[in-house]
Amino acid sequence: MTRLEKLARVDTATGLTRRWGALERIATQLPGPGPALVMFEIRRLRALNSALGHSVVDRLLATVARRLQEQRQVAWVGMLAPGRFYVELVPADDSISQAAEILEDLREPVDLARWVRVPDIVGAVVHTTPGHLDVDQVLRDFETGTASASEEERVVFVDEEHRSSGLRRVRVESDLSSAIAGGDVTFRYQPIVRIGDAQPIAVESLARWRHHILGPIRPDEFVAVAESSPLIHALGDHALSDAIAAIAAWRSSGTMIDLVHVNVSAVQLTDRQLADRVATMLDDHAVDPARLELEVTESAVLDTSGLWRDTLQSLRDVGVRVAIDDFGAGFSSLLSLRDVAADTVKLDRSMIAGIASDVGARSLVQTTIDLAHTFGMHVVAEGVETDDDHEVLLEMGCDLGQGWLWHRDLAADEVADVWTSECATESR
Ligand code: C2E
Ligand code: CA
Ligand code: CA
Repeated sequence: MTRLEKLARVDTATGLTRRWGALERIATQLPGPGPALVMFEIRRLRALNSALGHSVVDRLLATVARRLQEQRQVAWVGMLAPGRFYVELVPADDSISQAAEILEDLREPVDLARWVRVPDIVGAVVHTTPGHLDVDQVLRDFETGTASASEEERVVFVDEEHRSSGLRRVRVESDLSSAIAGGDVTFRYQPIVRIGDAQPIAVESLARWRHHILGPIRPDEFVAVAESSPLIHALGDHALSDAIAAIAAWRSSGTMIDLVHVNVSAVQLTDRQLADRVATMLDDHAVDPARLELEVTESAVLDTSGLWRDTLQSLRDVGVRVAIDDFGAGFSSLLSLRDVAADTVKLDRSMIAGIASDVGARSLVQTTIDLAHTFGMHVVAEGVETDDDHEVLLEMGCDLGQGWLWHRDLAADEVADVWTSECATESR
């Protein structure tokens, strides 16, 4: 090998074979069965590069490479891209626990000049099968696996099930943008009623998408996909403008809805321009900001680090209302009710589910309601399905409720019908 050839094939920071060499190596393992193929990936390497500088990051890469080469079961190590290590494990059986053990070693703190850092590494393990006909399939499996790895499951074994869900995700992601632009993502509205007399007083906007091949896709699924890309901003703006236009249309045709709730993802709160755009949308439709309530999940508000807090404050300055959504679904802290200046707290369905039968569940809900009232907040119970739930909530002094006991989500014209029939005597 000439010196130039060597430079082209070998990564200078780690001494490992680079991408083309690694791809050739994968090709020789196909079709399987052979060693277990693993990709370990250092996440957010680009952010590390800009925070610490390339030379520090090179040190991190070199340390991880050396730790990999020292592992007994590792037969070969190469580099598919900066921070993406390709590894062959022998023997292949038991490779998942082997990979998990190796990962533990890789995550030992690394001393980087002034910094000590625990590398944020995840892994994907693939067992080659006769179905693995080309290198691209293995690379796709690596992508699917590392993308679905999480804090709890850092090493993912990619099997048939992962492959099909990975394909679905790719499809959802690639079609979502045109679905938003083309108006295929629509919104339905679920009434929120007063617990006392079941009068509807507000609606919550809920996104809906019927895919031309996959059929209806749940919002939990496509919102999560949108959140991992810039698409969440397009989806969020779409939800806001649809809701603001809807309330203007309802009110101008005599349907006096007081309030429209819109879900806002935590990622949207990192956008400094959000409050300005909301103000413009309200202005364009001559809608009073106090008619808009933004639902932010508890996990987002709990992490009240700088940017989110600023955005929430700017939104409040515009005059819109804020609700803490899904309260009680995660690690709830009653103190977060005090720390976040919200107008409303929505108790998650999981918190409501047990109240009719379980004393413990009931007392937790009662405590939350009382505390929220102390801080001047309204309380909405979510997922109210039975008369028993309703009765208990009435006794507990809960203000508002939302659930199938009263209404499912409705199209805009059906909302107007509900208001006409149930709010005929009142005009606000
Ligand atoms: P969420 O904000 O907690 O919305 C309430 C969910 O509970 C909705 O599910 C609603 O259909 C469902 N629900 C309402 N009443 C009942 C009931 O009595 N029983 C049961 N079992 N379920 C009930 P959906 O429409 O599937 O939405 C799921 C989640 O997707 C929402 O949860 C919200 O987190 C998210 N989402 C929906 N639309 C948007 C959006 O436009 N933007 C963002 N960022 N997230 C959205
Ligand atoms: Ca919500
Ligand atoms: Ca909720």
